[in-house]
Amino acid sequence: MPERGGGRGVVAAENLKPGDLVLVSRPVAYITSDFGTLPDAEELVESILSSDLSPAERAALLDLHAGDDFGPEDPDGQGSGATDLTEERLYGIIGCNSFGEEFTDFASSLARAAPPQAPQDGAGAGGPVQVGHLGLWPSFSMLNHSCCPNAVNYVVGGSMAVVAAGPVDQGSELLINYLGAASLRPVEERQAGLAEAYAFSCGCPRCSLELLHGCSTSSRSASAGSSSGSGGPVSVSEELQVLLGRCADRAAELQDVAAAAATAAGDQLVALLELAAQSAADLAAAERLLTPPPQLLQQQAHPVSPRQAVQWLRAAAYELYSQRTAIAEAAARCAEAVEAEAVPVTAAVAEAEAEAEAEAEAEAASTAAGPSSEAAARTERLWAEAAGALESQLGLVAAVAPHSDLHVFLATKALALAQAAEGRARARAGAHSAEAAEQGGGAVGGSGGSGDDGSGGVGSAAALARCCAVVRGRYGRRLSDGTVQRLLEGAAWGLSQVAV
Ligand SMILES: [Zn+2]
Repeated sequence: MPERGGGRGVVAAENLKPGDLVLVSRPVAYITSDFGTLPDAEELVESILSSDLSPAERAALLDLHAGDDFGPEDPDGQGSGATDLTEERLYGIIGCNSFGEEFTDFASSLARAAPPQAPQDGAGAGGPVQVGHLGLWPSFSMLNHSCCPNAVNYVVGGSMAVVAAGPVDQGSELLINYLGAASLRPVEERQAGLAEAYAFSCGCPRCSLELLHGCSTSSRSASAGSSSGSGGPVSVSEELQVLLGRCADRAAELQDVAAAAATAAGDQLVALLELAAQSAADLAAAERLLTPPPQLLQQQAHPVSPRQAVQWLRAAAYELYSQRTAIAEAAARCAEAVEAEAVPVTAAVAEAEAEAEAEAEAEAASTAAGPSSEAAARTERLWAEAAGALESQLGLVAAVAPHSDLHVFLATKALALAQAAEGRARARAGAHSAEAAEQGGGAVGGSGGSGDDGSGGVGSAAALARCCAVVRGRYGRRLSDGTVQRLLEGAAWGLSQVAV
């Protein structure tokens, strides 16, 4: 098993459910910096050297792994032989044990600040002051890493909380993710990151499965038009790299399209629809590539369900999923602008849409024909695509980073999309009935503003229930509805501050 030092770990003393608090650790050292930045290790060293440590804090620090240069500590649980907290040793301790982020936990920091009014949009407005932070929490440092963790941690008011993020049997080891967002990268990158930062090689079930599948031969049909073409056999991981490379190129193109604000909305929409088609094709290729054959699952030391295996493998292609959502969202917003401006649909847009039109559902056909309803149908189709893409993205995060801040953010975003879709449906139904009334028509029946609307996302009631479950899994499963509500407001505020 991966170890941060000394072969120690934390096991569950009893059966745990998601949202059970495992430990709260006070920091021995904790410093902050501006929002969006990470404090320097030097500052943390200075802060420790200049602080008045109690003998217990000193002992706790000396007991922490400081890297191989300092030899194994704690041979018999009696503390390391070392008594000297040198600057050099402190750097080693910080390298192996510190935890830092560019922002603190949004939901809980807003809930603690507890302004009863809803936060306002815009950086810095409406919420508590946000900071980057770095610290050392000795008891938290005992937790080992997994790329499919069953516990999650966050800092609140300087203290580190660790919470079970899934069912954990008594006696099982509690494992957290050391990698942050890099946990959503391919296994080779995760392993390199862990080797560099902590000098260990992860042997978690997700890594084993991915390494085994990655070295198998790609079917080659996975990414049509792959340009890596030496003609020889290509491994799954090499093929994935090609797809991720194209994804990175497309990210730059997407930025260019977004930056071209002066472009007419119609032209922008053409460019976005083109990018959407490319990203959908590459994502489909990645999904074919990252479907494990049944025999692979039988070779696993740990039993893995087929569904779990698929999610674990596909998490390596997370960038493609997240980009698919981002492009669909941008296209939907652009389509809204086109609709609002009643821009005539250009031939190019019509052409770009031709394939998608094949899938256009009955709801579009059921509305009266005409330019505005066509534009409205396009907007709704693109928002449904965005909601569907977000669902796939959310599924991966739930599988490999359950109850992480990203999981909370994405669930909150899905709720916002569902609510917006229902708001638009009501507005359109209202406009429709007003129009019909004007023309002497009868009332429009069953506009179906809520519940399952057949779009790619989920209804807002289901999205809200899911959000609450994700929040309770992170902050405590017995929280009151009011507290969960405040945490959700904090998450929504966080979502307005950082891109996810
Ligand atoms: Zn791993």
